[in-house]
Amino acid sequence: KPMENRITDIGPRDYNEFYPPVIAKNKGKWSHHEILEPGVLVHVADSGDEVYTVRVGGARLMSTTHINEICEIADKHCDGHLRFTTRNNVEFMVDSKDKLEPLKNDLASRKFDGGSFKFPIGGTGAGITNIVHTQGWIHCHTPATDASGTVKASMDALFADFQDMRLPAHLRVSMACCLNMCGAVHCSDIAILGYHRKPPMLDHEYLDKVCEIPLAVSACPTAAIKPSKQTLADGTEVKSVSVKNERCMYCGNCYTMCPSIALADTEGDGIVLMAGGKVSNRISDPKFSKVVVGFLPNEMPRWPSMTAAITRMVEAYAKGANKYERLGDWAERIGWEKFFEACELEFTHHLIDDFRQQAYMSWRQSTQFKF
Ligand code: SF4
Ligand code: SF4
Repeated sequence: KPMENRITDIGPRDYNEFYPPVIAKNKGKWSHHEILEPGVLVHVADSGDEVYTVRVGGARLMSTTHINEICEIADKHCDGHLRFTTRNNVEFMVDSKDKLEPLKNDLASRKFDGGSFKFPIGGTGAGITNIVHTQGWIHCHTPATDASGTVKASMDALFADFQDMRLPAHLRVSMACCLNMCGAVHCSDIAILGYHRKPPMLDHEYLDKVCEIPLAVSACPTAAIKPSKQTLADGTEVKSVSVKNERCMYCGNCYTMCPSIALADTEGDGIVLMAGGKVSNRISDPKFSKVVVGFLPNEMPRWPSMTAAITRMVEAYAKGANKYERLGDWAERIGWEKFFEACELEFTHHLIDDFRQQAYMSWRQSTQFKF
């Protein structure tokens, strides 16, 4: 509850204020829900009230013009209510069936000049919903790849499966532009991960002027950084740091603390693809994603090698998995060796992720890998 009924700028307003009336009335008293068609759901309350939801694809970065149009649609059809999902989809809700078709027709009629949908309906059930993702080049300081660009290129390639529900189960795609990973790449069916491959470059001239050296040293999780005196080209001796490159795992934590320890590198930076993770415990336990493509270069602006590999994984999964089987369940059932074959991905022993003891001591201990 808001303190003393004040409206403050400390945190968001209480969400209870924003429910559509039918949701406020039936809160906690729902009977069931079903997906009527891709992108359209009905929730039925114990009271018999119904809520029809139309889900449309959105983007994490939206122009004010686009947001105004979303609000205009919500005013016109939904008494001013709408919601955003964590995957940047927009959901328009109406409280009776007769309001559904006009809403769907209105959404489908709105197009960009080139003819593509502004508000594509879909993203439900056994298909592909929007990609949960991070900030990328436009906003964060440690990315090894872009978020908006890779996500747009991937969703363009996967768009038919956003509008359809032909897959064996739902397939979650996520994207994080560095391994600090404010995305969900550790537990997604398919994950795109930005990856640095070179240690940081040190700007000794400015380091001590813009950074606190103890902070930079303590930021490194592998203790690769230590204080060090350095001599500049003009012979001046300055306080700075040195990096033991063999210890560096290219995480970028040091750059978070000190902008004179830059990590971004055109040649070194790129993408890792992971697969088979999930959060759900349906059928099998939750799983971590495994690395299935060790490195792809940044191929701006459309990342064709990345989208081709992702499309191959989706098609092989659509063809080979049993109904309700998630991608990781399917890969485990047929064996990861066969997964690589079915998806036409190159396999190397570096991709075996079955460690039971320390690192490389144990990679041959498993009977699950037959390579
Ligand atoms: Fe920044 Fe890394 Fe998060 Fe990307 S994943 S936004 S680079 S912290
Ligand atoms: Fe340490 Fe990470 Fe910086 Fe490498 S990138 S020096 S591991 S903090």
